[in-house]
Amino acid sequence: MFKQPDLPPGKAPLSNLTKLRDVAAIGCIDNELAIRQTQVYDWFEMWNEAFFSNRLRPVHVNVSLTDYGATLGRCFYLPVQFIEIHPQCWKGNADHHSFGSSTDVHPAALVVLHEMIHLAEAQLQGGFSDANCHATPLWVGWCNFIAEQVDLPLTYGRMKRGKAKADADGRRANVWKHEKDAGVRPGTRLASYDETRCFPFLENAALLQENKEIRKIQGKEVEVLPSF
Ligand SMILES: [Zn+2]
Repeated sequence: MFKQPDLPPGKAPLSNLTKLRDVAAIGCIDNELAIRQTQVYDWFEMWNEAFFSNRLRPVHVNVSLTDYGATLGRCFYLPVQFIEIHPQCWKGNADHHSFGSSTDVHPAALVVLHEMIHLAEAQLQGGFSDANCHATPLWVGWCNFIAEQVDLPLTYGRMKRGKAKADADGRRANVWKHEKDAGVRPGTRLASYDETRCFPFLENAALLQENKEIRKIQGKEVEVLPSF
């Protein structure tokens, strides 16, 4: 059994979530957006109860283009805590998704869950750790804790930084490797680094496949899974 990772201290004032949700829906000029904008708070409430013992303090959750429109979701901590979920999460064939033993979970709900893990880390530590936030022991701890609760067929191993490769623009691309000691929960396989950074999606998930990014790596254009 994987232990629940550490959480921010104290109970969150849940009435704040209701206030945020009401204000967000009132502010929408478009009916479809109003529905989505309410959904994201409903999911925040659901996941906070299911996995975070209601200890995450509610924050704004906005359905909006993330910075440069480049990522499916973002979590910000300073100076204001908020989460952004890209409208693209409601498009394409990805409108339903299985999540371990649960079926029919909306993929946008899973992006909300992903961002809430970032928020849990930030609220616990007073900010994000500078290392890759998808390879920290805390991140891997949350992935394993939630995966086991819902029967995801993956175990997440601790990662260590491998040799950095430079791409054509001289940008260093981090390479992550599994630590040797990675034990695998029975009935599951070890998640790849991409699946670890795209938790809780499996690599073949429609939302990921339909939103691949083109990156230039060593002069070649390569499709990579989206970031969030
Ligand atoms: Zn992330």
